[in-house]
Parts: sequence; C-alpha cells; structure tokens
Amino acid sequence: MPELPEMEAWRRALDGPVSAFPVAKAGPAHIATLKTFDPPLSALEGRRLRGAERRGKRLLFPTDDGELVLLVHLMTSGRLKMLAPGAAAPKTAAFVLEFAGGSKLLLTENARRKRAGVWLLTPAAAEAEVEHLGPEALGLDADDFAEILRRQAHRLHPLLRDQRAIAGIGRAWSNEILHAAKLSPYALSTDLSDDEIARLAAATNDELARGLELREHGASDEKTYRVHTKLGQPCHVCGTPIARIDFEEHTIYYCPECQTGGRVLKDRRLSRLLR
Ligand SMILES: [Zn+2]
Repeated sequence: MPELPEMEAWRRALDGPVSAFPVAKAGPAHIATLKTFDPPLSALEGRRLRGAERRGKRLLFPTDDGELVLLVHLMTSGRLKMLAPGAAAPKTAAFVLEFAGGSKLLLTENARRKRAGVWLLTPAAAEAEVEHLGPEALGLDADDFAEILRRQAHRLHPLLRDQRAIAGIGRAWSNEILHAAKLSPYALSTDLSDDEIARLAAATNDELARGLELREHGASDEKTYRVHTKLGQPCHVCGTPIARIDFEEHTIYYCPECQTGGRVLKDRRLSRLLR
C-alpha cells in the first residue's frame, strides 16, 4: 500500500498538472470506486481544482471556488497516473478526470476486488472524513512521540500503523522505521526509555524523508526498501539475514541482530495454537 512517502511524492507531482486547467469531464468511475452520489461527479465539470493536498495516506483535491473536495484513497493496489493530451486511457481505469486541453488524471486498480475509493464531498464532509486521523507522521518530535506512546500500552509495529495515533505509516515503513530505530516490532510502547523514544522519532523522520526523496525520483520498491520484503537478504547494517514473522494478519520484517538482541520472534498465532 502506498504510504506517506509515496502519497506525498504523488501529491507534489500532481499539484501543478491538476490545477492547470478546469475539469472538462468527471468520470466514468467504477461503481465500486465512487463512494458518493450527491453531489454528482458532473458537479466538478467546469470547475478548476486548487491543487493536490494530502492527509495521511489520502489525497484531497479541493476546487478553487471552495465548494467541493475530491478525496482519493488508493488502499492497497490503486495507482494514480497523469496522461498527456491524446494518450489513450486504459479501458480498465477505475476513475477518470479529464481536463480542458485533454490531459487526464487516471486511477487504476490492478486487483479483482476494487478497494480504492473516490469521494466527492463538501469541504465540511471532507473534514469529517479525515478528522479521526492522528498527526502527520513526518515532522513529529520526541515529545510528540512520548505523548503518543505513553497513552496506552501497544506493540510498536501495530501502533505505528494505527492511523488514529499517527497518520501516514503502514506495513512497509513500520518495518523500515523500527529497523532504523533498532527497536523490536513487539516492544511495548509504554516500556520505551527516553533514549529509545528519541531514536524512534529520529528514525521516523529520517526514514520517511529518505523514502520521499527516493519516490520523488521514481525509485522502485526494490530500491526504496531495505528491510520490508527482504526475507533472507543480509541486513544493510550488520549482515544478519532479515527475518519475517506474522502478527495480527500482518507480516513483519526485522533484523534479529539489530532489533531483538539476537532473538528470533515466534509467530504468535502459531505458538498460541501449539501452547
Ligand atoms: Zn542488522
């Protein structure tokens, strides 16, 4: 799933192109992709977008008259693409926005089950749609993290992915951040020392900034991730093979040497069955 670095790179790339011309035609949209019907998509036609904004993993495209907001959530496999005038749009596009002058913004989703969503909302409804989100992950300092971590005892990996606690981090960047911070994905948030909290804050900022820079230059997953999906490959810090474990429907990648004091974590679902 695209996370903060990926979505922010897209936001920066789309900000100019989507606001260059008014919308000529909104749609078609796949029935599973368009989540709202009032106001109708056609209400966008003739209006100009102010640009691209982002909140967590969502992109927002407000109209420059301040009356409407197009909200996009790509979920796992949705992708956005800007097509130059005259380029043929794939018939399988889940959503198309055509601008005067002929350029098109496309949302494609290469998955049987359509999960990506597009909402056309009033500004108040758009606000309500994102109000449950925690603060943006990029830019939090150690004090911010201390407050979030100490609220309640949670394992670090699921806590970093909890959009209500911190917005923008998912499975991939949780793996990257915890590795950079040298913290166990299972560590309890309330057990962290001040030094560990400072490391987590620094690692979050450094890793998300690293990811954003790479993604802005079009880097692939292969080049961007150093831990996520790297099972068996040598850790870039110590050379130990990267390990993998399943926890609450999620697959976690980590370095046993850098993060868990040499301990290989047990699959909790499996060990519960065996107990
Ligand atoms: Zn290591």
